[in-house]
Amino acid sequence: MATTHLYSLGCVSVYELKGLVLVYMVWFIDIHNWAISVRRDDTTKRKQRQRVWRVMGLLDTDAWLMLYEGVAASWPTLEEREVVENVGKAGVAVALFVCTALLCAVAAMVVKKQMQKNVNWGRVQATIKEFRDGCATPLQRLQKLAADMHTEMIAGLAKDGGSKLKMLLSFVEKLPSGNESGLFYGLDLGGTNFRVLRVQLGGKDKRIVKQEHEVVSIPPRLMIGSNEDLFDYIAQVLAKFVAKEGNDCKLAPGHKRELGFTFSFPVSQQSIDSGTLVKWTKGFAIAETVGKDVVKELQAAMVRQKVDMRVAALVNDTTGTLAGGRYRNDDVMMGLILGTGSNACYVEQTSAIPKWPSGLPKPEITVINMEWGNFWSSHLPKTKVDDDLDADSVNPGDQAFEKLFSGMYLGDIVRRVILKLAQDACLFGGSIPKNLTSPFVLRTPDVSGMHADESADLKEVAKVIKAAFGVRSLPVETRKVIIEICDIAAQRGARLVAAGIVGILRKIGREGKDVRTVVGMDGGLYEHYPKFRGCLHEALGELLGKEGSANVVIELSKDGSGLGAALLAASHSVNLQKA
Ligand code: ADP
Ligand code: MG
Repeated sequence: MATTHLYSLGCVSVYELKGLVLVYMVWFIDIHNWAISVRRDDTTKRKQRQRVWRVMGLLDTDAWLMLYEGVAASWPTLEEREVVENVGKAGVAVALFVCTALLCAVAAMVVKKQMQKNVNWGRVQATIKEFRDGCATPLQRLQKLAADMHTEMIAGLAKDGGSKLKMLLSFVEKLPSGNESGLFYGLDLGGTNFRVLRVQLGGKDKRIVKQEHEVVSIPPRLMIGSNEDLFDYIAQVLAKFVAKEGNDCKLAPGHKRELGFTFSFPVSQQSIDSGTLVKWTKGFAIAETVGKDVVKELQAAMVRQKVDMRVAALVNDTTGTLAGGRYRNDDVMMGLILGTGSNACYVEQTSAIPKWPSGLPKPEITVINMEWGNFWSSHLPKTKVDDDLDADSVNPGDQAFEKLFSGMYLGDIVRRVILKLAQDACLFGGSIPKNLTSPFVLRTPDVSGMHADESADLKEVAKVIKAAFGVRSLPVETRKVIIEICDIAAQRGARLVAAGIVGILRKIGREGKDVRTVVGMDGGLYEHYPKFRGCLHEALGELLGKEGSANVVIELSKDGSGLGAALLAASHSVNLQKA
């Protein structure tokens, strides 16, 4: 009982400690008033007090009475009262305040010590070592992974199903060059929000003359409603957006408005402007859309909503990112997404694509959507924690590469290791904190927040762990352990991404070459996690050498896929071909 009380005291934060001290002070003043009233023989006050106790739900009012009577008995006499009231009151209050604070602090220290004593530090170190060894990515392993990425890319290009890398054809024939001109629209649908944008291109000299966009959320009922309702809603938003076209937007006479449609769901494409939905993801579930050409569906809705526009290009977000980067910079050869999920695409010579459909005209280059989240190699550094995460996921066996580092999973990898330490090594003094067993309660932004904590007592770690798992007191030693887990998981992830990039560079013959290659990057993981970014750049340096890595530049283009789609609409424009 005493230990439980002490434990509960030990688990209080500074704020709760202050609250506790306040309660003790109020209580002290109450007892003091009581004692004075007893000395004055004020029975009404006694009755009042008993009523208050009852209202407060203190059933055993007799016990309280005994306690108060005891205090009253030892209280100063009536003669001494004046002194007590005038001088003693303040003095005693201060003394009690200090004593209570000291008591709480000592109790907290005792419990922290107790928690630390219960921790099996030998076991903690062994488990961390096991995780670190399992996640190890020495240079040799990274080189093997880069080689495997290269091999799998070739296998995936040879025939459909040739590799776990799908290596999907995007049917992009012409990347934006910067010479495009005219008015184009973009639509980016890939989650609960979608964005519409309009861009006025002024050709080689003027480039982007004007760009406007709007972000609109999709009502949840439409995500699981009917096909027609969803596409009608999108077309309505588009209609309203088109209606706001200013006088400075110029559509050449006889030209129809054209749109690039970024649709970030699995699609099987047959041409640049068509593709059937394989399945919905990310909370969308409209069975009747599956197997249908999403471009036709959008086009039909636009007719219903009287939007006079042609869908010129259907692209996924990775391809959109590459195209957006390419418009600004001819050296962009890859698009990379490091966000909730992860994917890569790159510019490939069609002569290197044996599975190119026969009878279809062959442009010189195209973009391959690798769907690299599904990459698999026997050299991937996987641990028991990763196997468990995969087994518990909605798609066991799929997306093996992505599950080792993308924003959706990184937080949960760290949570699982902490849980293992709590269970096997009593990291939290023997108890398993509430929520620690709940999947995805620790998010990747939490991991990056903790990882960035450079304060001496790692305050941010304590804050995050309290918010995520309800642990209110965390010794500094434990905070250090948690930082170490974040570091191991993030380093592994970032280094794997670097190996993947090198595999692609090898495939396009630009590894270690004296030629600049730019990677167009989009995604919150890269954008908001500086240590992850740092490890990625460092690993590229190790793999490519100082000079080689200086030629590989990663350029962040936030939400660039919508603009990229509009630019692809421009480079595949029927209007421009006519012109
Ligand atoms: P999406 O990938 O869904 O299109 P974003 O590119 O904006 O969206 O990336 C969002 C993802 O980025 C989140 O799911 C999260 O995992 C990750 N992320 C967001 N903020 C941070 C952060 N501060 N640190 C690390 N990762 C973050
Ligand atoms: Mg995105």
